[in-house]
Amino acid sequence: MENRTLSLIIPCYNEQETILAFYQEATGILAQMDLDYEMLFVDDGSSDRTLDIIKSLVTKDSHVLYLSFSRNFGKEAAMYAGFCNASGDFVGVLDADLQDPPSLLPQMMEIIQTQDYDCVATCRSTREGEPPVRSWFARRFYKLINQISDVNIVDGARDFRLMNRNMVDAVLAMGESNRFSKGVFGWVGFRTYWLPYQNIERVAGQTKWNFWGLMKYAVDGIVNFSQTPLSIASWFGIFMTGLSVLALLVIVFKKLLFGDPVAGWASLACIVIFIGGLQLFCIGIMGQYVAKTYVETKKRPHYIASESNIKNADLIR
Ligand code: UDP
Ligand code: MG
Repeated sequence: MENRTLSLIIPCYNEQETILAFYQEATGILAQMDLDYEMLFVDDGSSDRTLDIIKSLVTKDSHVLYLSFSRNFGKEAAMYAGFCNASGDFVGVLDADLQDPPSLLPQMMEIIQTQDYDCVATCRSTREGEPPVRSWFARRFYKLINQISDVNIVDGARDFRLMNRNMVDAVLAMGESNRFSKGVFGWVGFRTYWLPYQNIERVAGQTKWNFWGLMKYAVDGIVNFSQTPLSIASWFGIFMTGLSVLALLVIVFKKLLFGDPVAGWASLACIVIFIGGLQLFCIGIMGQYVAKTYVETKKRPHYIASESNIKNADLIR
């Protein structure tokens, strides 16, 4: 088991306030761990001094590797780039803001090396410190995605995790452009140990997520890993067809038996608006899937890196 290497992937987007703190804390812990390691910072097109700070670390520490994107491609792309370029036997993903505490790494390494697990993943034990509305939607999201998709995602799962090479290769084999890593990690399977920990505030700087960003993330997750919304659209269609046949029969019989025509245009207007709304809703659902298919068929690269200090780096993939 000795002499195995650990690669840490750290996606960074405008993290000038947090990178040094992260580097110091992580280095302190890794130095005590008696293993070979590399810290792979992926600069996701930051517009602040993030890249300069990373480069200054490169000059004084050979454990520091970096890859810098030509623009902001998003955290999912940054993690993918990290997986493509990490060479370790074990690969970990951590946020730069110390919300994923490096102090858990020794315990995680211990579990993955001594027990029968391919992955040690983390989840929050509580949602303390999060706005209640956000918590509520997050809970609904996890419940829903577990019900309607074939992946199992633990409520409060973070992207912070440690994996062995087998699992990383499996993750890399999933080359889809629409990446939803929480789903990808669940989909590839493998034995995963879930390690809960208390939620921590970021050390400095600001989160890049707002409410609507998270909503879009949730919809993406569902569309990427479930076809249930499409079935719902079909079932709506079948239900409404049945209902309209019934309504037709009622109207015809009322007219024949009682000579009683349906009165008023208001009911008609309501029905037209209702059906119109339902149709748009269902077309919208289909549109989501068509849009994803469109993006997939173009096979554009996941990321484009403009520079790196990694030997034979995968700059475009
Ligand atoms: N991040 C990134 N690209 C982005 C947005 C975020 O690489 O477009 C990184 C960010 O630098 C941080 C991690 O992803 O290391 C998590 O971001 P953040 O702390 O904003 O998310 P939160 O913890 O609030 O969910
Ligand atoms: Mg954070």
